[in-house]
Amino acid sequence: MSNVILSASKLSTLKGCSFTYYANYELGMKSGGNSGSDRGTIVHIIFENLLKPSRRKYFNQIISDKTIKNCPVIVRLVQKISNRIGLGTHDNKDQHNFDLIDEMIVTGLSCDFYCEGGELEAAETEFNYEGEGYNIRGAIDKIARFGSNYKIIDYKSSASKYTGDDLEFNIQSMLYSLWFYKTKGVLPEFQFIFLRFPDDPYINKQYTELEILGFEEYIKYITKYLQNFDMKKAIAGLASDKGYPADGSFGGKVMCGYSKYPGHISPKTGKEYWACYYKHARNIYYIKDGSGNVKYTTDRLEDIKLVGDDTFEVFPFKGCPSWNRSFYEQ
Ligand code: SF4
Repeated sequence: MSNVILSASKLSTLKGCSFTYYANYELGMKSGGNSGSDRGTIVHIIFENLLKPSRRKYFNQIISDKTIKNCPVIVRLVQKISNRIGLGTHDNKDQHNFDLIDEMIVTGLSCDFYCEGGELEAAETEFNYEGEGYNIRGAIDKIARFGSNYKIIDYKSSASKYTGDDLEFNIQSMLYSLWFYKTKGVLPEFQFIFLRFPDDPYINKQYTELEILGFEEYIKYITKYLQNFDMKKAIAGLASDKGYPADGSFGGKVMCGYSKYPGHISPKTGKEYWACYYKHARNIYYIKDGSGNVKYTTDRLEDIKLVGDDTFEVFPFKGCPSWNRSFYEQ
């Protein structure tokens, strides 16, 4: 059996850019979170809390007021988690993090939060499944049952909705539907709820048996392909070689970012241009425990916090080969 375990994020990363996959999963250089993912984490925790029957009163108040601001318990929880994960008051686009979290919570709670007319079967479900020739895993926000039909619900905190190929060939909904079909024998409905889009939050997907079995063949192929993933494979599907997507989605060369060198400042905004984490050369620090296992990586010396027998190693990362050809030709 292969030791490759596939997840939606792993598959999506590979689909977006082969070198991003290589750096993230083969070299183990994690790019870390950002304000968007931190906000998503907080909102998920609040939802998990509000699902408890004893918290229904908070749900009612938030829905009635269309804000969490009159609900001190929830405000305190948001602030506590924000402090713990280091989320500042504003993000790099000067958006107010608390206000965005507030809006996202209200949107999520307004989207049939308790699955009325059905039954909430499970929340925050992690799965691992070993199929013939592949291993998959994932985490499902909610599974609800409506009569003989099942619905998988996934909350999204991203600033854009799926378009183009990400919508047509949607890896996460297919992967989770495959798991559900294999373990329960039923093809579920799949519903994404985009929390930043209160006026139009839904994207629904449902697959036929043929589509899901076709997807299963695809992941068997990918499982084989990912074994012995070397530099040759790492440069076989670079985002920079895919041009700019015609549908305006976040793909192809857009993923690389405009920044031409580390610290490249936009004269218009006075702020640093965004860049893919792997675009520029830099030192990467691998922090290891006493047994030599990597605990985390960072490119910031100030983020290194050694405890006990921890050590760290420096890796002089040459950056993405597409933008740093001279380093690779040496
Ligand atoms: S800079 Fe572009 S091509 Fe290079 S790793 Fe990042 S997304 Fe891929």
